[in-house]
Amino acid sequence: MTLEDKIYVPSLPSPQSLKQTATTTSSSSVDDGETPALLHRSLVTRPHLVDHADGSYLYLADGRPILDACGGAAVAVIGHGNAEVIASTAAQMQRTSYIHTGAYTTTAAEDLAKFILECGTSVDGNDSYLAHGLTRAFFVGSGSEANESAMKIARQYFFERGELQRQHYISRRQAYHGNTFGSMSVSSVLGRRVPYEDVLLPNVSFVNPAFEYHYRHNNEAEEEYAERLIHELEVHFLEIGPEKIISFIVEPVVGATSGCVTAPKGYFSGVRSLCDKYGILLHFDEVMCGMGRTGSYFAFEQEDGGVLPDIVTIGKGLGGGYVPLAAMLVNDRIVNTLRQGTSVFNHGHTFQAHPTACSAALAVQKIIRREGLVSRCADLGTKFGQRLRTEFGSCKYVGDVRGRGLFWALEFVKDKKTKIPFEASVGFGAQIHQLAFDLGVAVYPCVGTVDGVVGDHILLAPPFNISDDEVDIIISTLWRAYHEVELHYD
Ligand code: PLP
Repeated sequence: MTLEDKIYVPSLPSPQSLKQTATTTSSSSVDDGETPALLHRSLVTRPHLVDHADGSYLYLADGRPILDACGGAAVAVIGHGNAEVIASTAAQMQRTSYIHTGAYTTTAAEDLAKFILECGTSVDGNDSYLAHGLTRAFFVGSGSEANESAMKIARQYFFERGELQRQHYISRRQAYHGNTFGSMSVSSVLGRRVPYEDVLLPNVSFVNPAFEYHYRHNNEAEEEYAERLIHELEVHFLEIGPEKIISFIVEPVVGATSGCVTAPKGYFSGVRSLCDKYGILLHFDEVMCGMGRTGSYFAFEQEDGGVLPDIVTIGKGLGGGYVPLAAMLVNDRIVNTLRQGTSVFNHGHTFQAHPTACSAALAVQKIIRREGLVSRCADLGTKFGQRLRTEFGSCKYVGDVRGRGLFWALEFVKDKKTKIPFEASVGFGAQIHQLAFDLGVAVYPCVGTVDGVVGDHILLAPPFNISDDEVDIIISTLWRAYHEVELHYD
């Protein structure tokens, strides 16, 4: 087997399947004949028009309330319409609407950076930010930009050290890290890569994900599976040439592509040791699973007693959807190397560290801390998971119920023994998603197979302050939707 065989090169799906993905991954309403001025994902249907939103509910223009059980895409962590966030955002806009970060800064951005770096209690239970070693935050507008920035600072770190031969990024199969060229290059979501395949970054390769439900052997203990993956990773590092590798990019809990997949015990500590052994930077993409979603501020805090990354990217829950905001957090090792070298991070955006966005995000994060919403996420999440397992675990076509905190997925399979999914054209999960939506509950769909194996799942990521009654509505509506769809395949 050649190295090229082992480096994952996605095969192209048909244009028809791309079209299907584009039109079924959201609850699109039918084309009303009018041509919208806004370029939507689908050019033939348009999304539902939202009139307003409040708490955990969206209210459509046609008057229908929709209980948002996935917070959009795991974004709305405190729900909509919070008066405190709105007031502090407005106050910031009155004070300063914009500054150019080349010459200026604001207390909104400085305070948010400090606040975020002080989040988390990892490793030794110490509440200090030094506990996880992340010492600088860089704010951008989206998770893709955060990952793009992370890929660049990682390369600059080696540039400063004179290790110019380090040009290669390692990611995992079934990963999604964003839509810009760099972040898409380290993603393996076929449907999104296809038109750009030939122009993505060449120096990227993909290793197997840590995905027990599909890939752990029957007679293999959890730790043995982790060891096998670490061994595979080391073999891959050696094939590429570890001295050529910049970073390993990985989601601690995999979100959209595979549905809330946690790693086996020992995996992340093994990854950390390997990265240390070969001087490779470890980059955790917590854009979806971070900021409390899994029951700790950073998802990595729960891995093997606290595994420390060199770079973390966050997004979604950072601004809670009130503003577009994401961030790259880096440790001292990177900061000091840049300081002692060129002493500039040669990367910037006009709207980076935008004061309005930082002020809104700070208000969101203060509410989360003050109201103990990360602990609530952990506690409610445990109960939520138990209920999902009780209600759906033995259902004929539910292969797996998995997750952590308020981040759960149901994976649908045609055959529970073989774990083979329904054909992508069936869209089992998509049907449940549609029916639940018609019944007034929005869940996050993932249609079709990713990497030829999985992807027929729905994802649940409600706001951390969702009420118990709303949780009841989610479970009962999902139960009804599932059983109506199941009837068609009996
Ligand atoms: N990384 C992960 C893990 C994500 O889930 C996403 C978006 O879903 C991104 C990066 C990209 O973030 P954005 O859509 O804000 O660019």
